Amino acid sequence: MVTITRFAPSPTGFLHLGHVYSARLARKAAREEGGHFLLRIEDIDTTRCRPEFEEGIIEDLRWLGLEWDYPIRRQSDHFDDYAALLEKLGDRDLIYPCFCTRKEIAAEITRSNSAPQGPEGPIYPGICRHLSDLQRQERFTRGDAYALRLDMVKAMASVPLSSLRFEEVGKGIIQCDPAPFGDIVLARKETPTSYHLAVTFDDALQGVNLVVRGQDLFAATHIHRLLQALLELPTPRYMHHGLISDPQGKRLSKRDKAATVRSLREEGYSPEEVLKMVDYS
Ligand code: GLU
Repeated sequence: MVTITRFAPSPTGFLHLGHVYSARLARKAAREEGGHFLLRIEDIDTTRCRPEFEEGIIEDLRWLGLEWDYPIRRQSDHFDDYAALLEKLGDRDLIYPCFCTRKEIAAEITRSNSAPQGPEGPIYPGICRHLSDLQRQERFTRGDAYALRLDMVKAMASVPLSSLRFEEVGKGIIQCDPAPFGDIVLARKETPTSYHLAVTFDDALQGVNLVVRGQDLFAATHIHRLLQALLELPTPRYMHHGLISDPQGKRLSKRDKAATVRSLREEGYSPEEVLKMVDYS
């Protein structure tokens, strides 16, 4: 089987050294095995993503010589694909509309005096989970904004827990437990798909069989594995790499302007010198 990896940045800023490290690693993994390396632009959050960042990322990758195979997939061109997945989950009664505002959720958490934390923050207290069809209909008719949430209990009951596993390269088989995430949001009005849904579907659609990405997304893989099971998608191997730090030991974030490829280019660094900054092999 040919190895297919990808680099999947969100164009909410310019390419930074953390990105370069990740892209280089993914590309190297594919090239070493005679496989393919893809570029996907994850721009579902149209309020935060900007075309100039997308252009900048593409230009900087080319400048670094980190070229990709095949045309780029831009997620915002494929909202219909994600809507079809939501419909599939809806037909099986695995998602429900949630009309709560963030404020209402916070108030309910305070009121109930219990705030169990999931890997992505407090767990949704389930206010809208048990609305009747009539109540939902009334809210739709009123035009109230809603998000679509996965009914975690139902979802977990529909797949054998023991099958929710994935291979982490160098570590072995990881058993997943997505339950602590609670009823996660799979779509919102302003963002008609979530990162979790789009990334899981796109990796399968594009034949990605080795996902190389930062350790910060390791927990999210438990959700992705569940979505793969629910949507009958294949499971790739995963390689979650450590996050890189600057020479002072500070973890590089997207807000670090000094560490963008753009600013390094402006300072006169060559592509080879920039690549060397992230060469830990
Ligand atoms: N788009 C995500 C980000 O830029 C990465 C997604 C992934 O690699 O799974 O943080």
